[in-house]
Amino acid sequence: MAGIMDKILTDGNMTRTPYSVCGMYKGYYVTVHMNQGFLLRINYKLAENMDLNSFKNRAYGVMNQLRVAEKKVSATNVVDHVIEVRLMPASLAKNTIAMIDSVTNHLIGFLQAEGANTGCQLCGAEYDVNSYEVNGAPHFLCSTCARQSMNQMEAERQSKLSVKSNLPLGIIGALIGSLLGAVLWVAIYQGGYIAGIAGIAIFMGAMKGYSILGKNVDRKGVVVCIIITIIMIFLANEFAIRLAVYLAAKEQHLHMSFEEINRKWSRFMSDSEFKGAYIKDLCVGYILAAITLFGTAKQAFRNAGGSYSMKRM
Ligand SMILES: [Zn+2]
Repeated sequence: MAGIMDKILTDGNMTRTPYSVCGMYKGYYVTVHMNQGFLLRINYKLAENMDLNSFKNRAYGVMNQLRVAEKKVSATNVVDHVIEVRLMPASLAKNTIAMIDSVTNHLIGFLQAEGANTGCQLCGAEYDVNSYEVNGAPHFLCSTCARQSMNQMEAERQSKLSVKSNLPLGIIGALIGSLLGAVLWVAIYQGGYIAGIAGIAIFMGAMKGYSILGKNVDRKGVVVCIIITIIMIFLANEFAIRLAVYLAAKEQHLHMSFEEINRKWSRFMSDSEFKGAYIKDLCVGYILAAITLFGTAKQAFRNAGGSYSMKRM
């Protein structure tokens, strides 16, 4: 998909990265960022005597037509100085490229007909505007708004770092929350599946529980939730297998109580075939959970520290 970024909006003066394109295109600041499809932004600045609300109504009218014409347009938004359109990729790259070009040109045609200029995405200022990469996404901002955005993100980071969580209560919350995900794990296992999604449910439950009782999920909170998730996956898998053995025994009318199965568990585990299956299920569970959890946990850790990035492109 990354190759698409080299082939869209080729008649503009654009700066390209594998995930974004930004630049002056036909007289307007345009950015495209790959994020759940493609997010297209066109900055506009209305003439002084123009009424913003009636402009927005006309803009939504044009975008509704676009949504009918282009099935892949999934969301549209008009805010004070920027028009935003989210597009889903078409099955063929060349169709995606043609669609992004066509939607951009259509909207620029509309802005030209409205006599709109271009400027800063936040305040509309037409001078001293530069492109910035903020948390990986391109934005055209004037230097005042860029400074303010930076200060605001720094203030948020400081306030996040200053709120310390209550660790003992947080751990209790995380344990309770993770149990809900563990129940899901056991339920899915009884259906004959091992699902990474249940690992996410355990982690998210732990995070939610930690935030409720521990007041705030800081970095140590995220670490606690990751550790609890790893332990809880083991326990959920263990319980799920014992339950499966119990249910299988019951089906064959062997009259073994769950308690009896637990007592004789070491005897089950001494069977090498059974032990092999047990270890295989546990490994598959951990691998699937690791795959699905990696991005989520990484993002949670970054959010907890309030980390941000902003640089001139
Ligand atoms: Zn500005």
